[in-house]
Amino acid sequence: MIGGETGDWDVPVGGMGAVTSALEDAARSAGATLIAGADVAAVTPHGEVRYRHRDGECVIQATTILANVAPHVLAHLLGEVEGERPEGAQVKVNLLLQRLPRLRDSAIDPAAAFGGTFHINESYSQLEAAHRAASAGELPSPLPAEIYCHSLTDPSILSPELVASGAHTLTVFGLHTPNQLVSPQNNDAMRELLTRAVLDSLNSVLAEPIEPLLMTDAAGRPCLETKTTLDLDKALHLPGGNIFHGELSWPFAEDGDALSRPAERWGVATAHDRILLCGAGARRGGGVSGIGGHNAAMAVLEG
Ligand SMILES: Cc1cc2nc3c(=O)[nH]c(=O)nc-3n(C[C@H](O)[C@H](O)[C@H](O)COP(=O)(O)OP(=O)(O)OC[C@H]3O[C@@H](n4cnc5c(N)ncnc54)[C@H](O)[C@@H]3O)c2cc1C
Repeated sequence: MIGGETGDWDVPVGGMGAVTSALEDAARSAGATLIAGADVAAVTPHGEVRYRHRDGECVIQATTILANVAPHVLAHLLGEVEGERPEGAQVKVNLLLQRLPRLRDSAIDPAAAFGGTFHINESYSQLEAAHRAASAGELPSPLPAEIYCHSLTDPSILSPELVASGAHTLTVFGLHTPNQLVSPQNNDAMRELLTRAVLDSLNSVLAEPIEPLLMTDAAGRPCLETKTTLDLDKALHLPGGNIFHGELSWPFAEDGDALSRPAERWGVATAHDRILLCGAGARRGGGVSGIGGHNAAMAVLEG
């Protein structure tokens, strides 16, 4: 829907890193100082930011802080009561294949089928049953899943040699796997279970099992990567592994919402004048849209 309501899959040529690099170039040429690899430990309503960088503790004082972290994480950094923790309910499996698999329905060309969003075990009744199972604390079977083949849309994400060999990437999103199923104690075992559930779901629509098509790395391990909600929480501070930083909300202001400050009108306000949200957790943010960042910048310019 964000991509122009056409249903087209829009991917940045060169991968997401190309977007980040373009933003970095634009920021540097506008005179920004960028510090990467810094872990913010605390912020105050007065604009103080404490962070760790290369084993050192640093403090800077800001006029305005644009916070790209999830609102739940921001509350933690401010030392505030954090409220209910958001929860994600998905598992992501990335695969590198020697070639696209053959489909059970031989009338369909795999390149056409994998060229858009490929829905697996996602009929209404299957989603209903999966939701019921997940709500009861069980892993749904079959697991509803969606596949995207980014290398069909943008071959530049692979080396020319891999493209020439016919290799492809598949990324599978398994649904209805609530974060409650995963804990620090069982995360490794759950990653195995979830990987199996995703591969079984995928294999149910294929004319051949996917496993033998996996490429192997230099150490002979299959090129397969699974990220649980807990993995995302640990690596990216996505609370509860919620990929959107929290529940999505309607983009418009509600009747009676305070709208006197620019930050309120742009949907980036927090309880503190100096601190604005600029990420997916902003009122009109979410997904790879950049809307939160744009709106926070507009609020600063208007303020
Ligand atoms: C597996 C997966 C698949 C997705 N698929 C899609 C998709 O197909 N389409 C789509 O539109 N969206 C998708 N999303 C959602 C999309 O990625 C997010 O909505 C988007 O990245 C949010 O961007 P952001 O810049 O607001 O925040 P993020 O990209 O989450 O960036 C926040 C950054 O803040 C850092 N951070 C957090 N806490 C601290 C701290 N204390 N100190 C320093 N740094 C900190 C994090 O490490 C992270 O780099 C997906 C997300 C995931 C995880």
